[in-house]
Amino acid sequence: MALKHRNRSFRKVSVKLSTRVTVHYRKRNPARAQCGKCGKFLQGVPRAKPVALRTMPKTKKRPQRPYGGVLCSACTRKVMIIKARA
Ligand SMILES: [Zn+2]
Repeated sequence: MALKHRNRSFRKVSVKLSTRVTVHYRKRNPARAQCGKCGKFLQGVPRAKPVALRTMPKTKKRPQRPYGGVLCSACTRKVMIIKARA
């Protein structure tokens, strides 16, 4: 494995080859999605690489509601109340 991959940016994976176990370096998963307003980590949004997201159904990538995958439930509720009053 190339030396340029031997750093903390990559995660170590021990791979069993036919006779020995070696360390391979793989890319880390992306960071958890956060609410655009309060910064809370979002539920129901997967931490997956773009390759995995490509084959994943849209309904599994974010909650099925307005602002799903953008705002948390508490912030969505606040925004909806403000919108209804305006
Ligand atoms: Zn929020």
